[in-house]
Amino acid sequence: MLNKLKVPLFNLSDEEKEIFEIAIKFAQEINDVEIDKLGLIPDKLFESLSRGGFFGIGYPKEYGGSYISETAIGLVILAISYKCASTGIVLSVHNSLVGAILNKYLTDYQKSVWLPSLASGKCISCFCLSEPEAGSDVRGIRTKLILDGNDYILEGEKSWVTNGPYAIVGLVFAKYNDEITAVLFDLNSNGVKKHTPEEKLGIKGAQTCSISFDGVRINRDQVVGEFGSGLKLALYGLNHGRLGVACQSLGIGWRAFYEAFNYSLNRKAFGQVILNYQFIQDYLADMRTKLDHATAYTFLVLANPDRSPRECSEAKLYASTVANDCAYKAIQIFGGNGYVKDFVVERLFRDARITTIYEGSSEIQKLNIIRFLQKELV
Ligand SMILES: Cc1cc2nc3c(=O)[nH]c(=O)nc-3n(C[C@H](O)[C@H](O)[C@H](O)COP(=O)(O)OP(=O)(O)OC[C@H]3O[C@@H](n4cnc5c(N)ncnc54)[C@H](O)[C@@H]3O)c2cc1C
Repeated sequence: MLNKLKVPLFNLSDEEKEIFEIAIKFAQEINDVEIDKLGLIPDKLFESLSRGGFFGIGYPKEYGGSYISETAIGLVILAISYKCASTGIVLSVHNSLVGAILNKYLTDYQKSVWLPSLASGKCISCFCLSEPEAGSDVRGIRTKLILDGNDYILEGEKSWVTNGPYAIVGLVFAKYNDEITAVLFDLNSNGVKKHTPEEKLGIKGAQTCSISFDGVRINRDQVVGEFGSGLKLALYGLNHGRLGVACQSLGIGWRAFYEAFNYSLNRKAFGQVILNYQFIQDYLADMRTKLDHATAYTFLVLANPDRSPRECSEAKLYASTVANDCAYKAIQIFGGNGYVKDFVVERLFRDARITTIYEGSSEIQKLNIIRFLQKELV
Protein backbone atom coordinates (compact mmCIF):
# COMPACT_ATOMS: atom_id res chain seq x y z
CA MET A 1 0.00 0.00 0.00
CA LEU A 2 2.80 2.42 0.94
CA ASN A 3 4.37 2.20 -2.51
CA LYS A 4 1.11 3.63 -3.89
CA LEU A 5 1.55 6.84 -1.91
CA LYS A 6 1.31 9.63 -4.46
CA VAL A 7 0.86 13.12 -3.11
CA PRO A 8 0.04 16.23 -5.14
CA LEU A 9 3.49 17.81 -5.12
CA PHE A 10 5.20 19.55 -7.97
CA ASN A 11 8.54 21.26 -8.37
CA LEU A 12 10.37 18.83 -6.12
CA SER A 13 14.11 18.73 -6.76
CA ASP A 14 15.73 15.43 -7.74
CA GLU A 15 17.21 15.19 -4.24
CA GLU A 16 13.80 15.74 -2.66
CA LYS A 17 12.19 13.10 -4.87
CA GLU A 18 14.98 10.70 -3.99
CA ILE A 19 14.74 11.22 -0.21
CA PHE A 20 10.95 10.81 -0.40
CA GLU A 21 11.37 7.48 -2.16
CA ILE A 22 14.06 6.40 0.31
CA ALA A 23 11.77 7.30 3.23
CA ILE A 24 8.81 5.45 1.67
CA LYS A 25 10.98 2.37 1.20
CA PHE A 26 12.40 2.61 4.72
CA ALA A 27 8.92 3.05 6.22
CA GLN A 28 7.78 -0.27 4.77
CA GLU A 29 10.18 -2.03 7.15
CA ILE A 30 8.78 -0.34 10.27
CA ASN A 31 6.68 -2.68 12.38
CA ASP A 32 3.97 -0.16 13.22
CA VAL A 33 1.68 -2.73 14.82
CA GLU A 34 4.37 -3.88 17.24
CA ILE A 35 5.30 -0.29 18.12
CA ASP A 36 1.67 0.49 18.99
CA LYS A 37 1.30 -2.73 20.96
CA LEU A 38 4.53 -2.39 22.95
CA GLY A 39 4.21 1.38 23.37
CA LEU A 40 7.80 1.97 22.41
CA ILE A 41 10.18 2.28 19.51
CA PRO A 42 12.65 -0.60 19.60
CA ASP A 43 16.40 0.13 19.82
CA LYS A 44 16.86 -1.62 16.48
CA LEU A 45 14.63 0.92 14.77
CA PHE A 46 16.51 3.81 16.40
CA GLU A 47 19.71 2.26 15.08
CA SER A 48 18.43 1.86 11.53
CA LEU A 49 16.93 5.37 11.54
CA SER A 50 20.36 6.68 12.60
CA ARG A 51 22.17 4.62 9.97
CA GLY A 52 19.73 5.87 7.33
CA GLY A 53 20.52 9.49 8.26
CA PHE A 54 16.96 10.22 9.40
CA PHE A 55 18.05 11.94 12.62
CA GLY A 56 20.23 14.22 10.49
CA ILE A 57 17.61 15.55 8.07
CA GLY A 58 17.23 18.73 10.13
CA TYR A 59 20.98 19.29 10.66
CA PRO A 60 23.57 20.71 8.25
CA LYS A 61 25.95 18.43 6.40
CA GLU A 62 29.01 20.19 7.85
CA TYR A 63 28.04 18.79 11.26
CA GLY A 64 27.32 15.31 9.93
CA GLY A 65 23.67 15.92 9.12
CA SER A 66 21.81 15.17 5.90
CA TYR A 67 19.81 18.41 5.51
CA ILE A 68 18.48 19.00 1.99
CA SER A 69 15.59 21.41 2.46
CA GLU A 70 12.59 22.04 4.68
CA THR A 71 10.49 20.34 2.01
CA ALA A 72 12.68 17.24 2.28
CA ILE A 73 12.18 17.15 6.07
CA GLY A 74 8.41 17.35 5.52
CA LEU A 75 8.47 14.58 2.92
CA VAL A 76 10.35 12.27 5.27
CA ILE A 77 7.98 12.97 8.18
CA LEU A 78 4.97 12.39 5.90
CA ALA A 79 6.29 9.10 4.50
CA ILE A 80 7.36 7.73 7.88
CA SER A 81 4.10 8.85 9.56
CA TYR A 82 2.12 7.12 6.82
CA LYS A 83 3.42 3.87 8.27
CA CYS A 84 3.97 4.91 11.88
CA ALA A 85 2.92 8.29 13.27
CA SER A 86 4.89 7.60 16.47
CA THR A 87 8.15 7.34 14.58
CA GLY A 88 7.13 10.36 12.50
CA ILE A 89 6.78 12.64 15.52
CA VAL A 90 10.00 11.37 17.13
CA LEU A 91 11.79 12.55 13.98
CA SER A 92 9.80 15.76 13.79
CA VAL A 93 10.60 16.86 17.36
CA HIS A 94 14.30 16.07 16.91
CA ASN A 95 14.72 17.63 13.45
CA SER A 96 12.00 20.25 12.96
CA LEU A 97 11.32 21.56 16.43
CA VAL A 98 14.64 21.29 18.26
CA GLY A 99 16.81 21.29 15.11
CA ALA A 100 15.43 24.57 13.79
CA ILE A 101 16.24 26.38 17.05
CA LEU A 102 19.71 24.94 17.44
CA ASN A 103 20.73 25.60 13.84
CA LYS A 104 19.70 29.22 14.13
CA TYR A 105 20.64 30.17 17.67
CA LEU A 106 23.65 28.12 18.77
CA THR A 107 27.08 29.75 18.48
CA ASP A 108 29.63 28.04 16.22
CA TYR A 109 31.33 26.66 19.33
CA GLN A 110 28.05 25.27 20.69
CA LYS A 111 27.25 23.76 17.29
CA SER A 112 30.59 21.96 17.25
CA VAL A 113 29.80 20.54 20.71
CA TRP A 114 26.19 19.46 20.17
CA LEU A 115 25.28 19.04 16.52
CA PRO A 116 27.44 16.06 15.48
CA SER A 117 25.93 13.72 18.09
CA LEU A 118 22.41 14.99 17.37
CA ALA A 119 22.78 14.74 13.60
CA SER A 120 24.12 11.19 13.80
CA GLY A 121 21.23 10.06 16.01
CA LYS A 122 23.67 9.13 18.78
CA CYS A 123 21.76 11.57 20.97
CA ILE A 124 18.01 12.05 20.60
CA SER A 125 16.68 15.44 21.66
CA CYS A 126 13.51 16.68 23.31
CA PHE A 127 11.74 20.02 23.70
CA CYS A 128 10.74 20.87 27.26
CA LEU A 129 8.36 23.80 27.39
CA SER A 130 5.00 22.64 28.81
CA GLU A 131 4.49 22.26 32.54
CA PRO A 132 1.71 20.84 34.70
CA GLU A 133 0.25 24.36 35.10
CA ALA A 134 1.29 25.85 31.74
CA GLY A 135 0.53 24.43 28.31
CA SER A 136 -1.14 26.90 25.95
CA ASP A 137 -0.18 29.70 28.31
CA VAL A 138 3.56 29.42 27.71
CA ARG A 139 4.37 32.58 29.65
CA GLY A 140 3.04 30.89 32.78
CA ILE A 141 5.96 28.45 33.13
CA ARG A 142 7.52 28.26 36.59
CA THR A 143 10.74 26.32 35.99
CA LYS A 144 13.49 28.73 36.90
CA LEU A 145 17.20 29.43 36.66
CA ILE A 146 18.89 30.77 39.78
CA LEU A 147 22.28 32.46 39.61
CA ASP A 148 24.96 30.57 41.56
CA GLY A 149 28.49 32.02 41.19
CA ASN A 150 29.34 31.78 37.49
CA ASP A 151 26.71 29.08 36.94
CA TYR A 152 22.94 28.76 37.21
CA ILE A 153 20.81 26.21 39.03
CA LEU A 154 17.76 24.82 37.26
CA GLU A 155 14.67 23.98 39.33
CA GLY A 156 11.23 22.88 38.19
CA GLU A 157 9.19 20.30 36.32
CA LYS A 158 8.30 19.83 32.67
CA SER A 159 5.40 17.70 31.50
CA TRP A 160 4.47 15.92 28.30
CA VAL A 161 8.03 15.68 27.00
CA THR A 162 7.85 13.78 23.71
CA ASN A 163 11.06 11.75 23.28
CA GLY A 164 11.72 12.35 26.99
CA PRO A 165 12.34 8.67 27.79
CA TYR A 166 14.61 8.29 24.71
CA ALA A 167 16.40 11.61 24.84
CA ILE A 168 19.91 12.41 26.00
CA VAL A 169 19.77 16.09 25.09
CA GLY A 170 17.11 18.40 26.51
CA LEU A 171 16.21 21.88 25.30
CA VAL A 172 14.57 23.35 28.38
CA PHE A 173 12.79 26.69 28.78
CA ALA A 174 13.03 28.37 32.19
CA LYS A 175 12.41 31.75 33.77
CA TYR A 176 15.32 33.95 34.73
CA ASN A 177 14.45 37.40 36.09
CA ASP A 178 10.88 36.86 34.93
CA GLU A 179 11.92 36.32 31.29
CA ILE A 180 12.16 32.97 29.52
CA THR A 181 15.61 31.62 28.65
CA ALA A 182 16.48 28.40 26.80
CA VAL A 183 19.16 26.01 28.03
CA LEU A 184 20.57 22.89 26.39
CA PHE A 185 22.18 20.13 28.41
CA ASP A 186 22.76 16.44 28.90
CA LEU A 187 19.78 14.80 30.61
CA ASN A 188 22.16 12.45 32.41
CA SER A 189 23.24 15.44 34.53
CA ASN A 190 22.86 15.28 38.30
CA GLY A 191 19.43 16.41 39.49
CA VAL A 192 17.48 15.34 36.38
CA LYS A 193 14.71 12.83 36.95
CA LYS A 194 12.66 11.31 34.15
CA HIS A 195 9.29 10.04 35.33
CA THR A 196 7.32 7.00 34.16
CA PRO A 197 6.12 7.35 30.53
CA GLU A 198 2.47 8.40 30.17
CA GLU A 199 -0.12 5.86 29.06
CA LYS A 200 -1.54 7.56 26.01
CA LEU A 201 -4.50 7.08 23.66
CA GLY A 202 -2.36 7.09 20.52
CA ILE A 203 1.16 7.61 19.14
CA LYS A 204 2.06 5.09 21.81
CA GLY A 205 5.57 4.51 20.51
CA ALA A 206 6.47 8.20 20.79
CA GLN A 207 7.05 7.97 24.51
CA THR A 208 6.22 11.01 26.59
CA CYS A 209 7.14 11.68 30.21
CA SER A 210 7.50 14.40 32.82
CA ILE A 211 11.02 15.45 33.71
CA SER A 212 11.93 17.21 36.94
CA PHE A 213 15.00 19.30 37.65
CA ASP A 214 16.30 19.53 41.17
CA GLY A 215 19.47 21.58 41.53
CA VAL A 216 20.74 20.93 37.97
CA ARG A 217 23.92 22.94 37.34
CA ILE A 218 23.91 24.88 34.07
CA ASN A 219 26.89 26.85 32.79
CA ARG A 220 26.92 29.88 30.48
CA ASP A 221 27.87 27.74 27.46
CA GLN A 222 24.63 25.81 27.88
CA VAL A 223 22.45 28.88 27.38
CA VAL A 224 20.92 29.03 23.88
CA GLY A 225 20.70 32.52 22.37
CA GLU A 226 20.41 35.61 24.55
CA PHE A 227 19.13 35.58 28.12
CA GLY A 228 15.45 36.45 28.01
CA SER A 229 15.00 35.39 24.37
CA GLY A 230 13.53 31.97 25.19
CA LEU A 231 9.97 32.76 24.17
CA LYS A 232 11.14 33.99 20.76
CA LEU A 233 13.21 30.82 20.33
CA ALA A 234 10.36 28.56 21.40
CA LEU A 235 7.95 30.20 18.95
CA TYR A 236 10.54 30.04 16.17
CA GLY A 237 10.93 26.30 16.80
CA LEU A 238 7.19 25.79 17.05
CA ASN A 239 6.66 27.38 13.65
CA HIS A 240 8.88 24.63 12.22
CA GLY A 241 7.48 21.96 14.52
CA ARG A 242 3.93 22.81 13.52
CA LEU A 243 4.81 22.08 9.91
CA GLY A 244 6.27 18.78 11.11
CA VAL A 245 2.98 17.99 12.86
CA ALA A 246 1.12 19.00 9.69
CA CYS A 247 3.21 16.45 7.76
CA GLN A 248 2.62 13.82 10.43
CA SER A 249 -1.12 14.53 10.09
CA LEU A 250 -0.90 14.17 6.31
CA GLY A 251 0.80 10.78 6.72
CA ILE A 252 -2.05 9.58 8.95
CA GLY A 253 -4.71 11.05 6.63
CA TRP A 254 -3.27 9.56 3.45
CA ARG A 255 -3.00 6.14 5.08
CA ALA A 256 -6.64 6.38 6.19
CA PHE A 257 -7.67 7.28 2.66
CA TYR A 258 -5.79 4.44 0.92
CA GLU A 259 -6.84 1.86 3.49
CA ALA A 260 -10.49 2.92 3.18
CA PHE A 261 -10.41 3.03 -0.62
CA ASN A 262 -8.88 -0.42 -0.81
CA TYR A 263 -11.38 -1.82 1.68
CA SER A 264 -14.34 -0.37 -0.16
CA LEU A 265 -13.13 -1.98 -3.38
CA ASN A 266 -13.30 -5.42 -1.79
CA ARG A 267 -16.02 -5.32 0.85
CA LYS A 268 -19.43 -6.43 -0.40
CA ALA A 269 -22.85 -5.52 1.02
CA PHE A 270 -26.19 -6.22 -0.64
CA GLY A 271 -24.40 -8.06 -3.43
CA GLN A 272 -22.12 -5.21 -4.46
CA VAL A 273 -18.78 -3.75 -3.43
CA ILE A 274 -19.46 -0.82 -1.10
CA LEU A 275 -17.48 1.52 -3.37
CA ASN A 276 -20.56 1.45 -5.62
CA TYR A 277 -22.62 3.21 -2.97
CA GLN A 278 -22.84 6.96 -3.14
CA PHE A 279 -22.42 7.47 0.61
CA ILE A 280 -19.05 5.72 0.45
CA GLN A 281 -18.11 7.63 -2.70
CA ASP A 282 -18.96 10.86 -0.91
CA TYR A 283 -16.70 9.96 2.03
CA LEU A 284 -13.80 9.01 -0.22
CA ALA A 285 -14.13 11.99 -2.54
CA ASP A 286 -14.26 14.29 0.47
CA MET A 287 -11.20 12.66 2.10
CA ARG A 288 -9.19 12.83 -1.09
CA THR A 289 -10.10 16.45 -1.87
CA LYS A 290 -9.20 17.62 1.63
CA LEU A 291 -5.95 15.65 1.63
CA ASP A 292 -4.93 17.12 -1.73
CA HIS A 293 -5.62 20.62 -0.43
CA ALA A 294 -3.95 20.12 2.94
CA THR A 295 -0.87 18.58 1.31
CA ALA A 296 -0.52 21.25 -1.35
CA TYR A 297 -0.84 24.05 1.22
CA THR A 298 1.52 22.51 3.78
CA PHE A 299 4.24 22.04 1.17
CA LEU A 300 3.65 25.48 -0.29
CA VAL A 301 4.36 26.90 3.17
CA LEU A 302 7.33 24.58 3.73
CA ALA A 303 8.92 25.66 0.45
CA ASN A 304 8.65 29.36 1.30
CA PRO A 305 11.60 30.61 3.40
CA ASP A 306 9.65 33.84 4.06
CA ARG A 307 6.63 32.03 5.48
CA SER A 308 4.76 33.76 8.28
CA PRO A 309 3.72 32.18 11.60
CA ARG A 310 0.12 32.58 10.43
CA GLU A 311 0.78 30.27 7.50
CA CYS A 312 2.42 27.68 9.77
CA SER A 313 -0.63 27.78 12.04
CA GLU A 314 -3.00 27.47 9.07
CA ALA A 315 -1.11 24.46 7.71
CA LYS A 316 -1.16 22.69 11.08
CA LEU A 317 -4.76 23.62 11.82
CA TYR A 318 -6.01 22.34 8.49
CA ALA A 319 -3.85 19.23 8.10
CA SER A 320 -4.63 18.06 11.66
CA THR A 321 -8.37 18.61 11.15
CA VAL A 322 -8.23 16.69 7.87
CA ALA A 323 -6.30 13.81 9.48
CA ASN A 324 -8.97 13.45 12.16
CA ASP A 325 -11.75 13.69 9.61
CA CYS A 326 -10.14 11.06 7.37
CA ALA A 327 -9.52 8.68 10.26
CA TYR A 328 -13.14 9.10 11.37
CA LYS A 329 -14.49 8.43 7.88
CA ALA A 330 -12.14 5.49 7.36
CA ILE A 331 -13.63 3.78 10.42
CA GLN A 332 -17.11 4.50 9.07
CA ILE A 333 -16.19 2.86 5.77
CA PHE A 334 -14.74 -0.18 7.55
CA GLY A 335 -17.91 -0.53 9.65
CA GLY A 336 -17.45 -2.89 12.60
CA ASN A 337 -14.05 -3.96 11.30
CA GLY A 338 -12.87 -0.38 11.73
CA TYR A 339 -13.53 -0.54 15.44
CA VAL A 340 -11.13 -3.36 16.26
CA LYS A 341 -7.37 -3.66 16.31
CA ASP A 342 -7.28 -6.21 13.48
CA PHE A 343 -7.42 -3.28 11.05
CA VAL A 344 -5.08 -0.31 11.10
CA VAL A 345 -7.76 2.39 10.88
CA GLU A 346 -8.53 1.86 14.58
CA ARG A 347 -5.00 3.06 15.37
CA LEU A 348 -5.07 5.87 12.82
CA PHE A 349 -8.10 7.27 14.64
CA ARG A 350 -6.21 7.19 17.96
CA ASP A 351 -2.99 8.54 16.45
CA ALA A 352 -4.74 11.40 14.65
CA ARG A 353 -6.29 12.72 17.85
CA ILE A 354 -3.14 14.29 19.27
CA THR A 355 -2.44 16.38 16.16
CA THR A 356 -5.04 19.00 17.10
CA ILE A 357 -3.61 19.28 20.62
CA TYR A 358 0.19 19.37 20.73
CA GLU A 359 2.52 22.10 19.52
CA GLY A 360 -0.41 24.44 20.02
CA SER A 361 -4.03 23.27 20.09
CA SER A 362 -6.37 24.14 17.21
CA GLU A 363 -7.85 26.91 19.36
CA ILE A 364 -4.39 28.41 19.84
CA GLN A 365 -3.66 28.14 16.08
CA LYS A 366 -6.87 30.09 15.39
CA LEU A 367 -5.89 32.77 17.91
CA ASN A 368 -2.47 32.97 16.22
CA ILE A 369 -4.04 33.29 12.77
CA ILE A 370 -6.23 36.16 13.95
CA ARG A 371 -3.35 37.83 15.82
CA PHE A 372 -1.21 37.89 12.67
CA LEU A 373 -4.13 38.90 10.45
CA GLN A 374 -4.66 41.88 12.71
CA LYS A 375 -1.03 42.84 12.19
CA GLU A 376 -1.28 42.30 8.43
CA LEU A 377 -4.67 43.84 7.74
CA VAL A 378 -5.56 46.32 10.44
C1 LIG B 1 1.20 13.34 23.75
C2 LIG B 1 1.65 14.74 24.03
C3 LIG B 1 2.92 15.12 23.68
C4 LIG B 1 3.38 16.41 23.96
N1 LIG B 1 4.68 16.75 23.69
C5 LIG B 1 5.17 17.93 24.15
C6 LIG B 1 6.58 18.22 24.05
O1 LIG B 1 7.38 17.46 23.51
N2 LIG B 1 7.04 19.37 24.61
C7 LIG B 1 6.19 20.26 25.22
O2 LIG B 1 6.67 21.29 25.69
N3 LIG B 1 4.86 20.01 25.30
C8 LIG B 1 4.34 18.87 24.79
N4 LIG B 1 2.99 18.60 24.91
C9 LIG B 1 2.12 19.56 25.55
C10 LIG B 1 1.16 20.21 24.58
O3 LIG B 1 1.83 21.10 23.74
C11 LIG B 1 0.03 20.85 25.40
O4 LIG B 1 -0.75 19.78 25.91
C12 LIG B 1 -0.82 21.79 24.58
O5 LIG B 1 -0.08 22.92 24.21
C13 LIG B 1 -2.08 22.22 25.33
O6 LIG B 1 -1.76 22.64 26.61
P1 LIG B 1 -2.54 22.03 27.88
O7 LIG B 1 -2.57 20.56 27.73
O8 LIG B 1 -1.93 22.59 29.12
O9 LIG B 1 -4.00 22.54 27.73
P2 LIG B 1 -4.56 23.96 28.25
O10 LIG B 1 -3.61 25.04 27.89
O11 LIG B 1 -4.95 23.81 29.66
O12 LIG B 1 -5.85 24.09 27.35
C14 LIG B 1 -7.04 23.34 27.63
C15 LIG B 1 -8.06 23.70 26.56
O13 LIG B 1 -8.33 25.11 26.62
C16 LIG B 1 -8.07 25.70 25.35
N5 LIG B 1 -7.54 27.04 25.55
C17 LIG B 1 -6.46 27.40 26.30
N6 LIG B 1 -6.25 28.72 26.19
C18 LIG B 1 -7.21 29.20 25.38
C19 LIG B 1 -7.54 30.50 24.88
N7 LIG B 1 -6.81 31.56 25.20
N8 LIG B 1 -8.59 30.61 24.04
C20 LIG B 1 -9.32 29.53 23.69
N9 LIG B 1 -9.06 28.30 24.12
C21 LIG B 1 -8.03 28.13 24.96
C22 LIG B 1 -7.09 24.77 24.67
O14 LIG B 1 -7.12 24.91 23.27
C23 LIG B 1 -7.60 23.43 25.13
O15 LIG B 1 -8.69 23.05 24.34
C24 LIG B 1 2.51 17.34 24.58
C25 LIG B 1 1.21 16.94 24.91
C26 LIG B 1 0.78 15.67 24.67
C27 LIG B 1 -0.60 15.27 25.08
